[in-house]
Amino acid sequence: MAKYECLCCGLRFSRPKRFDEARSACFGFPAAERLAGCPHCGGAYMEYTVRDQERRPEDD
Ligand SMILES: [Zn+2]
Ligand SMILES: [Zn+2]
Repeated sequence: MAKYECLCCGLRFSRPKRFDEARSACFGFPAAERLAGCPHCGGAYMEYTVRDQERRPEDD
């Protein structure tokens, strides 16, 4: 299960929003290069994996 997290506002979403028209650059990200972004602010995002079942054992 993969989700995404906005690097700009921290919003978590499952599907990035596509931007067809150029918008103002957010967080210094070039709008021309950005085909998809955060549905909230349109900023850059990263993919992260949710590990619910895989819990890391605590050492000590
Ligand atoms: Zn955002
Ligand atoms: Zn933003």
